[in-house]
Amino acid sequence: MTFQPEDFESHPCDLCGANDATERYSKRGFSIVQCNKCGMVYTNPRLKPAKIGELYDANYFQGHGFDESVNYVGDVKEHGAAKSSYTLNDWDLDTIRHMLKQNGSTVKPRLLEIGCGTGVFLDKARGHGFDCEGLELSEYAANFVREMGIPVQTKSIEDASFGDNTWDVIVMREVIEHLPHPLEALKTVRKWLKPGGVLFMATGNYDSPERKLRGADWFYFMPEGHLYYFANRTMARYLREAGFSGVHVTNQGDKLMEKLRNARILAPGESKPGNPLRRIAFSIVRGVNHFISSGMRIYAVK
Ligand SMILES: [Zn+2]
Repeated sequence: MTFQPEDFESHPCDLCGANDATERYSKRGFSIVQCNKCGMVYTNPRLKPAKIGELYDANYFQGHGFDESVNYVGDVKEHGAAKSSYTLNDWDLDTIRHMLKQNGSTVKPRLLEIGCGTGVFLDKARGHGFDCEGLELSEYAANFVREMGIPVQTKSIEDASFGDNTWDVIVMREVIEHLPHPLEALKTVRKWLKPGGVLFMATGNYDSPERKLRGADWFYFMPEGHLYYFANRTMARYLREAGFSGVHVTNQGDKLMEKLRNARILAPGESKPGNPLRRIAFSIVRGVNHFISSGMRIYAVK
């Protein structure tokens, strides 16, 4: 896809409002800048929302778009084949369950996934006893979710009209970096959560060694659709500004469980090693992973 000058727009920092940023990287004609006031990293100028919308066609979901790592159709097949094995999705759902229990929450919690894609995570969540619903911009992807028998609306966050205090859990995996106004979106999402409800998000980690080593070649720099690059500190500030408490940010990438199983630290189907020695290795790997992972997982409470 080629872009014209009129496809772009400039904007101030979404986190602090300052219009004072320095270019850090240049990639495929895009500029990735860092705010001199708060340190937030973002694509500026960026594509206008209408142009961005055109990027998420069926090709995108099949891995032929600007993010070639996206292969949701492949994910559905893989998910169907290995439905019973314990994945990082299970780990996230167990973590969410644990947080809800601490807040004394319901037996069948209501869970909304924003940007649910083809519904692989929602299907897992349903298996964990959550009452699930999805929000997804792509009709193409949403049809996969409907086929699973899970309700899904094809709307943006701005256009969705959920009541206040509706959900026990809201999930946004690899979504926040795509939104033009993350702060506004987080405030909306917080309203939709019940008091004590949990927001779970996953996104890239700008502070990862991989970004520092590879610079503009870092795989997560996809300035066509990735508008924001969060670090632990800026993410925590975002959530505080949006009114969340109990913010927990940890860096664990999507390949963690696979790596642990390949190293035989974790047996298939296990969430935690039963053997004490392997359990120590598990803690060490996860501890080290926090400092090296390119991915960030965020849990916050309303
Ligand atoms: Zn700023």
